[in-house]
Amino acid sequence: MPIITKSKFMNGEKCSRLLWFANQKQIPKPNISDKHKFQQGYDFEEYVKKLFPEGVECSNKDFKTNIDLTTKAIINQDIIFEAGILSGNFYIRADILQPQPDGWNLYEIKSTTQAKIHHIPDLAYQKFVCERYGLKIKKCFVIFINKEYIKKGNINYNELTMLEDVTDKVNKIENLEEKANNYLKIIKMDKPAEIIKSISKNCNSPYVCPLKSDCWGTLPENNVLQLTNWRMYWDLFEEGKENGKLDINDLDESLEFKPKDKILIEAVKDNKIKIQKPNLKLFLDSLTYPLYHFDFETFDTVIPIYDKTRPYQKIPFQYSLHIQHQNGRIEHYEYLADGNSDPRIELLKTLKPIIEGKGDVIVYNKSFEKSVLEKLAIDFPENMEWIQDVINRLKDLANPFRNFDYYNPSQKGSYSIKKVLPAITGKSYSDLEINNGAIASIKYFNSHINSKTMVDYISDKEEIRKNLLKYCGLDTEGMILIVNEMIKLVESN
Ligand code: SF4
Repeated sequence: MPIITKSKFMNGEKCSRLLWFANQKQIPKPNISDKHKFQQGYDFEEYVKKLFPEGVECSNKDFKTNIDLTTKAIINQDIIFEAGILSGNFYIRADILQPQPDGWNLYEIKSTTQAKIHHIPDLAYQKFVCERYGLKIKKCFVIFINKEYIKKGNINYNELTMLEDVTDKVNKIENLEEKANNYLKIIKMDKPAEIIKSISKNCNSPYVCPLKSDCWGTLPENNVLQLTNWRMYWDLFEEGKENGKLDINDLDESLEFKPKDKILIEAVKDNKIKIQKPNLKLFLDSLTYPLYHFDFETFDTVIPIYDKTRPYQKIPFQYSLHIQHQNGRIEHYEYLADGNSDPRIELLKTLKPIIEGKGDVIVYNKSFEKSVLEKLAIDFPENMEWIQDVINRLKDLANPFRNFDYYNPSQKGSYSIKKVLPAITGKSYSDLEINNGAIASIKYFNSHINSKTMVDYISDKEEIRKNLLKYCGLDTEGMILIVNEMIKLVESN
């Protein structure tokens, strides 16, 4: 019997094409980042359940056992974890059902720092299935993370969690049976909905669709969704669906675009790199040598691990520092924490003597390094003075690229270092085992900190450490190469 589960309902809310492929089990398996996110969610759920010490666990991989355990718990009027409710073709597993004198309260646990708009249809579908089954739902709640919680000793799960009553919002969602029946029809179709008709803002929101590279990969190589703000240009895309003008090359010359997009469109149409030499020169002239090219890697966890830290606080565990002197001499320093204790203390101790000085501290996307440094200064106030000096010396190498003072059509609208480095120097991250910050963070966390998953990673620990050093080192080495190429471009005729 075809069944609409909660996740199928939510897939249908996002996109009928996604629903069809997910039902056929034809979506990519969760990657390392997805698995990490799921694990963080499970960890939070464990703490939330402690708020309901009388709760009866009904979770079971077997569908029928889950339903049988739930039926028994409903009769006993227990607080139920993972309540499996089936009504016709509609099935849900509610995180928590709590009996009330004249009905039940429904709780959804989310490891977010607030109740979000897409949590509402999720709860609305659960309420619909419960009520269709015969349980009167009195109130609906989202339980989420208190982002202001600061760990002191053992986790205080009362303080860690927040609760929002979203009953009124849930009650405003209508036509749930109609929607669910429509999703039933979609999963029975012999082929999915057409790609181009399906692409919408939902591809990126509330999360990036696992099929995005497949669907968006069918668009022209240079398409209007690469313009700097795809939300702003969405109408252009919708028109392009109708008139076939999705390629940047086909855009009407008379349309008004923002200055950065004018550069981008010109670069595509001329198939040429666009350089605003005076602006690049201005940036280079503003630099004070020696240049301290600097990059942090961090990890964060939903449940804080170390005292005086909050949920999702970025904990730096690694840095790379390349010092570029005006005469071309380069020095390289790096740090990668080992063991599972708080890495910040040793990291600060090793960083202070090598970063103190007069030259600019060059970073790529200043806001990230700045916020990590500011937090370090607050948490370790004895280091406040020198950290503040580093913050004052920060200079953002992303700025000339954010402003499109250099733009290569191969960047496809992006100014991230992963696109800029190959565009300007030909060097790329693609050969590296660890080639982005999210993977670096997860691999470090699972091989050094997380005792639950360490077993899977421990044999690879030395390999992971080598790859982490390569990855972080390339970020700062890449910054030197970018500066050198900018100098060459400015000096060339
Ligand atoms: S990428 Fe977009 S169009 Fe493709 S399945 Fe996902 S949401 Fe639908």
